[in-house]
Amino acid sequence: MSPEPGVLQDSCGRVVGDLRISITDRCNFRCTYCMPDEGMQWLDRAELLTYEEQVRVARICVDRWGFDAIRVTGGEPTVRSHLPRLFSLLAPLGTDLAMTTNGVKLPELAHDLAAAGLRRVNISLDTLRPETFLALTRRAELDRVLAGVDAALAAGLAPVKINCVVIRGVNDDEVVDLAAFGRAKGVGIRFIEFMPLDASHEWSMSRVVPASEIRDAIHNVFPLEQHAPSGHVEPAERYAYSDGVGDVGFIASVTEPFCGDCDRVRITAEGKFRSCLFALDEHDLRPVLRDGPDGGSDDEVAAVIEAAVAKKWAGHRIGQVDFIQPPRSMSQIGG
Ligand code: SAM
Ligand code: SF4
Repeated sequence: MSPEPGVLQDSCGRVVGDLRISITDRCNFRCTYCMPDEGMQWLDRAELLTYEEQVRVARICVDRWGFDAIRVTGGEPTVRSHLPRLFSLLAPLGTDLAMTTNGVKLPELAHDLAAAGLRRVNISLDTLRPETFLALTRRAELDRVLAGVDAALAAGLAPVKINCVVIRGVNDDEVVDLAAFGRAKGVGIRFIEFMPLDASHEWSMSRVVPASEIRDAIHNVFPLEQHAPSGHVEPAERYAYSDGVGDVGFIASVTEPFCGDCDRVRITAEGKFRSCLFALDEHDLRPVLRDGPDGGSDDEVAAVIEAAVAKKWAGHRIGQVDFIQPPRSMSQIGG
């Protein structure tokens, strides 16, 4: 299949247009489904791409192939210093500009991030119970995260969405309470199936709560109507509450994979280009981006990206006998 001009197309004909930039592997939480409590090996500061290097990759993607969405993530992006500067460099590219965060630093940062050009945030919040929050994140910071949701709303970061990973026996009894919280706050909850990307390799299918089960539980209390497709690729299957009070989404990465519509690519904090969350191969952009003997032109950076995207696979194999969990955890890839 010959690619359309001016777009980045993979070998399955999917057009890529959404860049996820992980800016750090570090985090101030230790969510059990992501990181171990201790023992993570952090990247050295010099290994991280600079903001200028990250923006160069983003600019190449926007100018050459018309990427229309950029999301900053991590690790926890808000632990990297001078974060508003990154958004002030990315905003002129004119794309949708979002960030995924655990929210704990939003009370002090939300206003400056919005002023710098960040448009919207997804805040991770898996529970409203302090003891479950402590068990899941290994930090007693529920109140700060709730204050972070309020700060994001007050700063005009719209829409604010909540990412909620549901794990059997941990928070699956809370989905209706979380939906009620979202309705009351005016924030859309995105319920996400637990994926095998935890550093401790404790994932098992028995701990995955199928999105259909979560949807049914919510529909029984707050009737739902399926949204018409928005035309924009998004992993969440979106529903409106029948009474008109907001919406809710379900990301069924495990039980109903949406790989056929995937338009995403990622770069890790140290500049490895990945065409899939579950990819087993990576393409090192840092030497091409950096001054030095291997430092390259924009054409050479683009060539690495094109070669990687050409090898993007049709889809992940979670649940199949030949599935191999990537050696990196979610925090090291960038969720
Ligand atoms: N630290 C930020 C946060 O927690 O929002 C950004 C990075 S985090 C890796 C991005 C998203 O991945 C979060 O919403 C988190 O809940 C989700 N996540 C992490 N590990 C996951 C897993 N094993 N399965 C499903 N989602 C996961
Ligand atoms: Fe940190 Fe986000 Fe991973 Fe939790 S999910 S440990 S907040 S990177």
